[in-house]
Amino acid sequence: MPDPQSEIQHLSQNWQQQLAEAFNNIQDLCRYLHLSPDELPVSVEAAKNFPLRVPLSFAACMEKGNAHDPLLRQVLPVKEELLDYPGFSNDPVGDLAATAQTGVLHKYHGRVLFINTGSCAINCRYCFRRNFPYADLQLGKQKEDIAVRYIQNDANISEVILSGGDPLLLNDARLARLIRQLDGIRHLKRIRIHSRLPIVLPARINDELINTLVQSSKQIIIVTHCNHANEINDRVIASCKLLKSSGITLFNQTVLLRGVNDNAEALCELSEQLFSHGVIPYYLHLLDKATGTGHFEVAETEALTLIKQIQATLPGYMVPKLVKEQAGAGSKLAVL
Ligand SMILES: *Cc1c(COP(=O)(O)O)cnc(C)c1O
Ligand code: SF4
Repeated sequence: MPDPQSEIQHLSQNWQQQLAEAFNNIQDLCRYLHLSPDELPVSVEAAKNFPLRVPLSFAACMEKGNAHDPLLRQVLPVKEELLDYPGFSNDPVGDLAATAQTGVLHKYHGRVLFINTGSCAINCRYCFRRNFPYADLQLGKQKEDIAVRYIQNDANISEVILSGGDPLLLNDARLARLIRQLDGIRHLKRIRIHSRLPIVLPARINDELINTLVQSSKQIIIVTHCNHANEINDRVIASCKLLKSSGITLFNQTVLLRGVNDNAEALCELSEQLFSHGVIPYYLHLLDKATGTGHFEVAETEALTLIKQIQATLPGYMVPKLVKEQAGAGSKLAVL
């Protein structure tokens, strides 16, 4: 995608075409960014373990020629991923095996995670699902119906959280079918969607999706996943605006990442940007300790210092909650 004209053409394609043409190798991404793979700590082996995947709409937010770009660092397979860090494992949250069977993860009171796809539009190097066999998480319609019945049969469940992978990778027809089924469950109040697509592939927020969401009888919440203010460009802003003007509540979660957003200025700027486009900063997560992600870790004490700096700078409603996930706990644990 070297010249600007073809870049513009690409970004006007529908989301599925854009997804099909996402960068999937180090060479192409480096060429696009005017970087030489030889100058970077790239690792082909790391890319074999967990492939490079990044849509052009996200790569377009990176600074050309910057080997230390905070967005590039989130997606570039590097040698450090092959290092062993003590305390890092393949399933740090301890719940993936359970999910693969039914697609439903019921750990917290009143809400369930519903995972019907393990795929994502982007492969984030720090992801705790990076070591998990994605294919096992692909629910067919039959398993989906079983999961819906589980929710139907438990009147204590008031909120379903569509998670993944990325639930917005389901096509419009599948998603509409699922939402209609959930609409039919009387005791359900809210449908929450955890998705990185409004940020990394904003073309996904198309009219058909909006129609499906506004037709639902439930309250719809979308929790985006954005780690750095540079991820928010005009197309992202337009997608958030469309969602917001359709009556959807928007929150954001961020992962605290070494070399990406591990300073108060970057985090404050992110909160400012999100809020100005109608998205409320919700969680700032400490990294889940998955194998291959040790170089992204920010120590808890440092995280605490950062959140106090943010608190001293921003209005309270722009300060995300600093949390960590602990296997067996009944909620995310507040660090502050
Ligand atoms: C994170 C998570 C939720 C959602 O938690 P909230 O605090 O409501 O955002 C629900 N279930 C599971 C298993 C989770 O990991
Ligand atoms: S979008 Fe979320 S689930 Fe997918 S790779 Fe990134 S962090 Fe993991």
